[in-house]
Amino acid sequence: MRGYVRRIVTLGDPDGAVLRSRSRPIPVVDRAIRRLIADMLVTMRRARGVGLAAVQVGVPLRVLIADAGTGPVVVVNPRTRRRRGSQVGQEGCLSIPGTYGTVRRAQEVEVHGRNARGRRIIVRGAGLLARVLQHEIDHLNGVLFIDRIAAEARRARPKERPVGEAAPSRKAGSAV
Ligand SMILES: [Zn+2]
Repeated sequence: MRGYVRRIVTLGDPDGAVLRSRSRPIPVVDRAIRRLIADMLVTMRRARGVGLAAVQVGVPLRVLIADAGTGPVVVVNPRTRRRRGSQVGQEGCLSIPGTYGTVRRAQEVEVHGRNARGRRIIVRGAGLLARVLQHEIDHLNGVLFIDRIAAEARRARPKERPVGEAAPSRKAGSAV
């Protein structure tokens, strides 16, 4: 199915409040959902993103896509079943242009759900793919990465100086 570029909702838009809504489960993966997924894939690629949640194109339904460089992953009604380890890295968001921040995430996740044909799937991700999956599942719950930065900063408010100057520079995170 050919996809078409949809407008990505950003936080400052008149309809930006949708980003704070909790997306609804998808009862049946029908033609309309497959069209939505096709459009999301085209929209993500056009924006050079590595992930996208349906709510970011203004549709608060529980579907995400991710492409961490190993091909597109589609998960309908995703549920995180396992998480392991932790990673700290830069993140951005197509719905919050120009903002990046350091977010702690699980290093590995296992996500259960359905694919674009409605079949049960299990997606295991590590590293960047794990980060993207967690970022997108947050979107489905109305949570944005800037919320995680704030939480991290509160926890980290250090007594001693952070070792920032000594740390190797990280490249800017990919926007999802
Ligand atoms: Zn995002």
